[in-house]
Amino acid sequence: MKLHTKIALGLVLGGIAGGGSNALFADSRWLVMLSDNLMYPVGQIFMRMLFMTVVPIVFTSIALGVAGIGDMKTLGRLGGRTFGYFLLSTLIAATIGLTLVNTIKPGGGLPAETRDELMAQFAGNATDMASAGPPDFGVSTFVNIVPRNPVAAAADMDMLALIFFSLIFGAALTMIPKEKAKPVIDVLEGIGDAVIAIIDMAMKLAPYGVFGLIFVITSQFGWSILAQLSMYVVVVMLGLILHAAFGISALVKIFGKMNPITFWKSVDAPIITAFSTSSSMATLPTSIATAEKELDIQPKIAGFVLPLGATMNMNGTSLFEGVTVLFLAQVFGVELSFGSQIVVIILSVLTAVGAAGVPGGSLPLMMLVMATVGVPPEGIAIILGVDRVLDMSRTTLNVCGDISASVYVDRVDREWEGLPPAAPRAHREAAAAG
Ligand code: ASP
Repeated sequence: MKLHTKIALGLVLGGIAGGGSNALFADSRWLVMLSDNLMYPVGQIFMRMLFMTVVPIVFTSIALGVAGIGDMKTLGRLGGRTFGYFLLSTLIAATIGLTLVNTIKPGGGLPAETRDELMAQFAGNATDMASAGPPDFGVSTFVNIVPRNPVAAAADMDMLALIFFSLIFGAALTMIPKEKAKPVIDVLEGIGDAVIAIIDMAMKLAPYGVFGLIFVITSQFGWSILAQLSMYVVVVMLGLILHAAFGISALVKIFGKMNPITFWKSVDAPIITAFSTSSSMATLPTSIATAEKELDIQPKIAGFVLPLGATMNMNGTSLFEGVTVLFLAQVFGVELSFGSQIVVIILSVLTAVGAAGVPGGSLPLMMLVMATVGVPPEGIAIILGVDRVLDMSRTTLNVCGDISASVYVDRVDREWEGLPPAAPRAHREAAAAG
């Protein structure tokens, strides 16, 4: 059986086993024991195996990517295209979300007693998040991108700072004499390859890890909350599906000049990893491997675009934020003018850039958006019970958006360099089969 099939099977069986145990034995002692002592550790070990590769892979792939791109002018042009694409795809996503939530108005139908019940049930979690304080968004946010100490930035998983150092380091490699840069590049390549080998090991564990992660979530999940918030969940999911089917597919076709079907066929591993881990960061190693092996993206491009994307480009998150802020405004009867809605779109895009690529990374920032437009931030309690499912789904779209950006930037670079277009594995296999 192919590894991907096994992982997908782990996902489905984990969901069935977890959901079934929840229905039949909710809160029973043995279920909690099983979940805490077997399923949770198996899932976490898988996720940690992926996480532990993030720092070395971000550093090596960005430094090598920038060194490979070579001159600063090309880097600037590719960087500009990368950020332009991030912005465009995130804006499209947020706009789809806002249009849907205004049309379907899921918040209008939520009974006041359900609202109060959910507020009471999850108020504690919301207060915890609020007391952690909204991250302050100001001049210091930008200053802090330049790390005082790159090792500390890596240790704290401060991604933007780590990325900044890696970019500068890669650029510096192009400025020193070639014979001095060469051994450093060789070492970085060796480290990069070793990290890929670690990821391969982690992926062997994936079918069980994914089973564990999904079991823990579904066995503890409040399915009745899902029913109570069904309209809201449907709007978010529908938005994500529409953005995948039309937004990302169109971008892949128009900007990447690639058949969207080839694209979607190639990205099953990152989809499953993102869905089961709810973390763009944990999925980054898989995305890089997939971009290079399945889509034939040049390593220097994948290594440059994808770590940036995992940190800054979150299509699904911006869509989710827009829908959620408007949904909660509807629930609380806060009228948001057209102007305020534009503010919601802009802030959803910006905070999606700032959100960390970890489970629930966007929630504290979303509270900031809510407060800005006058929706009570503690109202986030209402959706916390269903957030994990939505997080799994939006992270999947975040990651697919990143990979689609690498398709575009790779296409542009190949044209500049006069190289033939990328040859995705699906095409190569079809050609080999005649
Ligand atoms: N979990 C998301 C990610 O890693 C971030 C979020 O929306 O909470 O991409």
